[in-house]
Amino acid sequence: MSALTRLVPTGVRRWLRSHGGPLGSVVAVRTEDPEFVLTYDDGPEPGGTDAILPVLASRGARATFFVLMTRVRRYPALLREVVSEGHEVALHGIDHRAISRMSYREVLERTARAKAELEDAVGREVRWLRPPYGLQSLTSFRAVQSAGLEPVLWGPSAADSRPGTTDERLRRVLRGAERGAIVLSHDGYAEVEDGGHGGNRPELDRGQLAGLVLDAYGSLGLRATSLSNALASGTVTRGLWFRR
Ligand SMILES: [Zn+2]
Repeated sequence: MSALTRLVPTGVRRWLRSHGGPLGSVVAVRTEDPEFVLTYDDGPEPGGTDAILPVLASRGARATFFVLMTRVRRYPALLREVVSEGHEVALHGIDHRAISRMSYREVLERTARAKAELEDAVGREVRWLRPPYGLQSLTSFRAVQSAGLEPVLWGPSAADSRPGTTDERLRRVLRGAERGAIVLSHDGYAEVEDGGHGGNRPELDRGQLAGLVLDAYGSLGLRATSLSNALASGTVTRGLWFRR
């Protein structure tokens, strides 16, 4: 039993187990392979996604892209490029609004709709959802599971969704760097029309940052892969992650 699980009273845990899938979001992968899980949020975005893809390709790296449907509709060709380069596509949301204060029904409906639309667009099953801002309630967590997706959060973060320096980002992304870590980075920026806050768009070369992250993890002997690839031989590590 994990320390986090111990914080939840036994009666509550029993109720949770009898009312759905496993309690806890995917936060890392337990694996024997020398790899980490590279993830990108808030795309696809011209200037971001298409700057990152050739860098990943040149290193033989794979990643999981958590996309916004507002972006998928605008940039379908970019999404096709992500798929054709062998990366995994997962859902960030129908838009970038926080789901943590929505009702069960609202989260279930918008997530099921987005999953179906995304699966149509990529022609394969979509397994994961990362809640915008990493915000989720027990209600939204259960609704996402009922829509057929698993909530995925993260470990180290490249802190690239707000202004900052490359040095700061590299320091942050190496905090907690280890085998099986799920690393958060961004290939786009959620604007107001995506349901995001907007107004604080960071100026950075996302392709360059991708290369630096691959170098930094490479120097630890770790190569980048997608979540589903990592789980072909590894197992999921779950953690309780509820923030509103
Ligand atoms: Zn996001």
